Amino acid sequence: KDLTKDYFDGGNVIHALKGANISVTKGEMVAIMGPSGSGKSTLLYVLGLLHPPTSGAYLFKGKNILNYSREEQAVFRNRELGFVFQSCDLLPNSTVFENLELPLVYAESDRGLRRKKILEALDRVGLSHRVDHWSNRLSGGERQRAAIARALVNNPSLILGDEPTGQLDQKNTEIVVHQLQDLARQGFTVILVTH
Ligand code: ADP
Repeated sequence: KDLTKDYFDGGNVIHALKGANISVTKGEMVAIMGPSGSGKSTLLYVLGLLHPPTSGAYLFKGKNILNYSREEQAVFRNRELGFVFQSCDLLPNSTVFENLELPLVYAESDRGLRRKKILEALDRVGLSHRVDHWSNRLSGGERQRAAIARALVNNPSLILGDEPTGQLDQKNTEIVVHQLQDLARQGFTVILVTH
């Protein structure tokens, strides 16, 4: 609601967001589109609690989460949000399993349940057969699907994507977009920045 974000660059003020309003419902898939420099990433980072806005409110299930303490925001981010970036940022010298285990470790998820949760998340993107593969041996499309599975592993309400298909070819772009649409049909909410 009425989100503004000013950046201070030397002596200049850049008004990256000038009162942005957006309302998204559970299970919706929304694309934030616009030319380069129009504030898309800024809006996404504000929604991901990665950058604090200059002013405005962020109501999530009715609560203004900008009023949360840093610790509460960290827990919120870990439990409720999943991030998928353009370069999928998997840890290279680790297996798919280890990559997906990390957010579960932060969430203090029961050790005995981790493999089950990881296989469920991988299954949602059709990748459970790759659970014990080295992440750097996956194809580009598989890597991005593993990154989506990592975003899903804590069963978040909201998935945020910053040009998640930006580095994929046409075929893998279609696969990843279908995957995200499928997640929206399953009740996850998806907000993407895209050209
Ligand atoms: P988009 O994602 O649509 O390309 P951005 O949100 O990245 O747009 O940027 C919006 C505006 O804010 C641009 O003018 C950009 O140069 C500026 N900007 C983004 N991040 C910073 C920053 N950390 N410091 C200063 N200016 C920034």
